[in-house]
Amino acid sequence: MNTKKLGGSHIKVENRKLVFNHIFNQPGISRPQITSQTKLSAASVGRITDELLNQGLIKEYDCEAGNVGRRPTLLYVCGEKIPALSIELDRDKQVCAVVDLSGKVHYRIKRNFQVHPHSPDELCQLVQEMIKEIMNHPDLADKQFAGIGVALPGLIDLDTGMVRMSSQLRWHNVPLGAMLRNMFPDMTITIDNEMNARAFAESLYGEIRHEQNAVILGIGSGVGAGIVANKQVYRGSGNKAGEVGHVIMDPNGKMCECGRYGCLQTFVADWALVEDARLFKQDADIYDILQAANNGEQWAISIINRFVRYTKIAISYFTSLLDPGAVVLSGSLLENHPTLSEWITREYENQPQAPFRLTISGLGHDGAIVGAAAQLLHETYNEYL
Ligand SMILES: [Zn+2]
Repeated sequence: MNTKKLGGSHIKVENRKLVFNHIFNQPGISRPQITSQTKLSAASVGRITDELLNQGLIKEYDCEAGNVGRRPTLLYVCGEKIPALSIELDRDKQVCAVVDLSGKVHYRIKRNFQVHPHSPDELCQLVQEMIKEIMNHPDLADKQFAGIGVALPGLIDLDTGMVRMSSQLRWHNVPLGAMLRNMFPDMTITIDNEMNARAFAESLYGEIRHEQNAVILGIGSGVGAGIVANKQVYRGSGNKAGEVGHVIMDPNGKMCECGRYGCLQTFVADWALVEDARLFKQDADIYDILQAANNGEQWAISIINRFVRYTKIAISYFTSLLDPGAVVLSGSLLENHPTLSEWITREYENQPQAPFRLTISGLGHDGAIVGAAAQLLHETYNEYL
């Protein structure tokens, strides 16, 4: 006889989690299928699904045309009933969105505030304004949000939400978690590195949802990676894993904003490409580089070739070190200029023996906001997920 009440309750939570996960991962699954896959009793599956239905976390539909016998009822997670507010902060772009548990973005506001060294207070003010705008929107007024998930580039203390360092935002030891909790005392708030959020989103809804191990490489105003190991975001000992942008590629290279020479981002970040281009063409931007390369101008072809070469080196470091099943390309530079992704993927086309799949993020610009919301929702509903 089991006399451990705590143990019994734990098993109940685990069983509910198991059933919810089966419905989440296999939309349209039936109760008999859950029973057969989980080895739980039909009575337990019936009780748990009734509980989830009553809480509005799942919904059911009768199967249309049935064969012989009783038609099964198909179960789906009621993602739209479980929304979160999601924030993405970057050097020149801030997004606030409503995202639900199924990864659907319902509403989005974007600002293009340029950060500067004294910006934490101003940026928090902007976040507050965007959240208020969303909460006051007539279509969203009756929504109950599970909390606020935030994603930004930098080294972040997960427990406190302290931003230890963000070279993109030019922040050092900014207590973002405390500042936002002060503004929204009744809301659950989670803050994480943007690439970890993207990795979480990709593993739930994106290109790598069937992969156990993968790397998401993000290239934009900085360079970073999110690592998925055994279906979990790998964070290292201090939530700093994947900070590949400051790996030194050439000690005699260009000075980086971190104060060292020749970091990876000095070869592949958007500003590095633009800096080189302006040696040839005043006020050149990425569009000018791509157009000039298309016209066969050597300086532009050289910039892109070097970009591709160093991106390939970064990919090879990850694939040698981690043996991922897939590498996903993401980040604002590649999302705004898909031609650059094509230049990279072309390099791998003649290597069918490559032991990993190179792919481009399908979530694109939404990767960070979808991931930040998903992290918040999974933390809030961790008894189910
Ligand atoms: Zn650096």
